[in-house]
Amino acid sequence: MSVSAPVKLTIKDYKSELHNDWCPGCGDFGILTGIQMALAQLQLDPDKVAMFSGIGCSGKTPHYINAYGFHTLHGRVLPVATGGRLANTALTVIALGGDGDGYGIGAGYFVNTGRRNLDFTYLVHNNNVYGLTKGQASPTLSKGKRTKSMPEQAIQDGINPIAMAVAAGYTFIARAYALDPKHCAQIIARAIQHKGSALVDVLQTCPTYNDLYTKEWYEGADLPEKKSRLYKLEERGYDGKVQDPSDPEEIVAKKAAAVARSYEREPIPIGVYYEALLPTYEDEIYKRIPSLKDTPLVEMDTFHRDVTPLLEAMR
Ligand code: SF4
Ligand code: MG
Repeated sequence: MSVSAPVKLTIKDYKSELHNDWCPGCGDFGILTGIQMALAQLQLDPDKVAMFSGIGCSGKTPHYINAYGFHTLHGRVLPVATGGRLANTALTVIALGGDGDGYGIGAGYFVNTGRRNLDFTYLVHNNNVYGLTKGQASPTLSKGKRTKSMPEQAIQDGINPIAMAVAAGYTFIARAYALDPKHCAQIIARAIQHKGSALVDVLQTCPTYNDLYTKEWYEGADLPEKKSRLYKLEERGYDGKVQDPSDPEEIVAKKAAAVARSYEREPIPIGVYYEALLPTYEDEIYKRIPSLKDTPLVEMDTFHRDVTPLLEAMR
């Protein structure tokens, strides 16, 4: 009997047939390609991947990917993705959304997800505006900045998502650039492979509403020497990985280094800021309910359980 070689999955296997209605030139296209390249790189079966999204232009991303998809509520992608992951730990879970969705409306969930260290990936399409609702300033737009869709300059300062993620407890924190899908895919693949909560903040262009942070701006087309306003951390010898996760001093030092880099402006660092292998939320749950480790909740017969002893105990 001959055994056929396993079929190698390619980027095409992760594309859906749905019509894409993003504006021409939107940075979301680069992120979409980056995700599909990462899934192909890791050879993940589409039926073992679950994508969850918030509300915004980026929320449509799961529609365009051949995998399970769940388009959730504004700012609520993380609790829904948390539920999905806990119900079926056999799935690779990827949550995604915009900067307004995740760092504004969903900020409370953003913080509490970091401290939980659940094993999943969160991608934020960070374009400094609320694109779907016509370009209002998002939480990442700096004070004094004004895009073409705003009547006045922003009067509040922007937040620093990388520093916020360090403080919250994410154990893999990176930044990518949407218009470099190859590098973006490498970062996303590493985030998916990381055991713990991974945040990838992706700098995304919105040619329709953000005329400040354009492809030309990021790539320094206006500068005399045409030098990019981005640099790759790994190319400057930076290594954010904690070598000994049992050493609290090393963790603090690596976190401090990541925060210091996150405040650098022009050039902006992209790449992995921080990485540490620490116990996950799942590890803690398995200690209490060991059977969950081998059988995900979704495969357990929870409907026909006799709960009488539990009710008796609560009398
Ligand atoms: Fe992309 Fe901006 Fe158009 Fe939304 S509004 S699809 S973010 S270019
Ligand atoms: Mg946005």
